[in-house]
Amino acid sequence: MSYGHYTAHVTRVTDLTPHMRRVTLGGLTGFPGAGLDHRVKVFFPLPGEPRPIYPTGDDWWERWQVEPVRAVFRTYTIRKHRPSRGEVDIDFVLHGDGGPASQWAIQAAPGNEVGLWGPRAEYAPPPDTDWVLLAGDETALPAIGAVIESMPAHTRGRVMVEVADAAEEQPLDTPEGVHLEWLHRDTGGSLTTALPGAALPPGTPYAWIAGESSAVKHLRRHLVNDRKVPRENIYFSGYWRRGAASVA
Ligand SMILES: Cc1cc2nc3c(=O)[nH]c(=O)nc-3n(C[C@H](O)[C@H](O)[C@H](O)COP(=O)(O)OP(=O)(O)OC[C@H]3O[C@@H](n4cnc5c(N)ncnc54)[C@H](O)[C@@H]3O)c2cc1C
Repeated sequence: MSYGHYTAHVTRVTDLTPHMRRVTLGGLTGFPGAGLDHRVKVFFPLPGEPRPIYPTGDDWWERWQVEPVRAVFRTYTIRKHRPSRGEVDIDFVLHGDGGPASQWAIQAAPGNEVGLWGPRAEYAPPPDTDWVLLAGDETALPAIGAVIESMPAHTRGRVMVEVADAAEEQPLDTPEGVHLEWLHRDTGGSLTTALPGAALPPGTPYAWIAGESSAVKHLRRHLVNDRKVPRENIYFSGYWRRGAASVA
């Protein structure tokens, strides 16, 4: 996998739902795709800077850590990559909790500059699985959407997405054998109660789980201990942590 630094600028901003904003970035000729849930680190300008200023090159991480004023970056999923146009879409949750990435997205406008580092992907179902489980919250929805769009028609599976309320649902076309369930927090819905209570298909699944860190850990434990899903068939990632900034 080849990682690289790329500079990009906002070309379009589209509100998908009240709290999900799609930011289209251009200027990315030569940006490689990495896979369905590919993610990048997005570098944002500090207040007063027209563009993010940070070290690039293979040792950027070591140099970034000792910078007197460090550029801010957060990890985001490439929802769609259009190589011929040098464009990507990134869907930002506008969580309103004061985080610099969400604040940047709230104010994003055409011409704004960011930096990208990546990409890298993780979704990799082993060939011998019987069905696919995708579970996540809004932050996982861009990856879940991309995975669903790539599913062969014969795929069997279960998709569970936890969102704030019905207005945060997005249209997703699943194959006939894939059941999609939206869980609304405003009416008590949650992944941590819905998944343990769900009747799941027989056979061995590949499970992909992402979202708030403690919820993800809970779900993984449930799959391993109660459902006896082999550990190597589970990809899990805490995409954010309640009450803590995701600094790296
Ligand atoms: C591999 C990967 C892929 C990701 N893909 C996406 C994506 O495509 N779209 C996306 O929106 N996010 C995605 N995320 C999550 C995103 O990186 C975090 O939500 C990040 O914390 C946002 O940064 P921030 O500067 O807005 O907030 P931070 O400065 O990191 O945090 C500030 C405060 O906001 C809270 N907070 C952070 N995120 C949320 C949230 N979603 N809901 C409620 N409170 C929150 C924190 O708990 C903290 O209290 C991804 C994360 C990873 C690791």
